[in-house]
Amino acid sequence: MSGLPPAPDTTVPDADRETPVCPHCGRPFVTERQRALHVGERHDATPAEERAYEEAREAESDELFRLHLKVVFAVGLLYAASVVAGVVAFSLPG
Ligand SMILES: [Zn+2]
Repeated sequence: MSGLPPAPDTTVPDADRETPVCPHCGRPFVTERQRALHVGERHDATPAEERAYEEAREAESDELFRLHLKVVFAVGLLYAASVVAGVVAFSLPG
């Protein structure tokens, strides 16, 4: 029995992988979409950056809509399950 816990599984990003960086303030981002949203909201964007911002907003809006659909479906499913469980529980004799 060793006293040390197992080492966590970690990954280091490739050195040659380009990290998206804000061209105005140098802030690094995980994804290009996050960078486009930051530039469009925080800085005076060029027309190309403005187009990237609009595309990123559209993609994020679509993703949020899909998330809302999933949440509505999950809540509806939970509600239906609780109604069925209630009907079964209150219909049991005794
Ligand atoms: Zn910036």
